[in-house]
Amino acid sequence: SGLAAIALTTLSCTRSGDRVLLPDSIYDPVRTFAQTFLGPFGVDVAYYDPLIGRGIAGLVDDKVRLIWVESPGSVTMEVQDVPGIVEAAHARGIMVAADNTWATPLRFKPLAHGVDFSVTAISKYFAGHSDVLMGAISVRDEGLYRRLRDVSRVLGYGVSPEDCSLVLRGIETLSVRLDRAE
Ligand SMILES: *Cc1c(COP(=O)(O)O)cnc(C)c1O
Repeated sequence: SGLAAIALTTLSCTRSGDRVLLPDSIYDPVRTFAQTFLGPFGVDVAYYDPLIGRGIAGLVDDKVRLIWVESPGSVTMEVQDVPGIVEAAHARGIMVAADNTWATPLRFKPLAHGVDFSVTAISKYFAGHSDVLMGAISVRDEGLYRRLRDVSRVLGYGVSPEDCSLVLRGIETLSVRLDRAE
């Protein structure tokens, strides 16, 4: 699922003692994941104003390992200054992950703006027919790909070929549906 992809991304680059920054507009179940799961494992979470832009630099310290962005954000639809946040994060060696479900890669390509992990809840626009649960993580760096692959194997993540064929069906009409939905 999309939530599983978010969890996998977060788990693959954090460990006890680290902190993750989440925009206040984050998809709500991610808050539950952060509170009920990351917290007890020793990963601290802090929330920030999605319109903070480069001001995110004031929230980062040596504990912060990962910053999530979601643009537009769930329900409230803020469009974030993703390049500004990426610049501030990378200056401190911090990775940035984007939940790109709302924009879809047809409207925004996070990797082209320096984001390290681009995550999409395929269950939504991609599958398009409310009959599949799937998530996707795209990266450019092969080392990150290998880390995600190793962690996903350990956790037993997988998708069925039937579900993949349903998603391929959905992709055929993605751009048409997106235009209409807008
Ligand atoms: C639905 C959604 C998810 C989670 O996707 P599931 O496949 O339902 O787990 C994550 N992020 C956003 C923005 C969503 O809308």
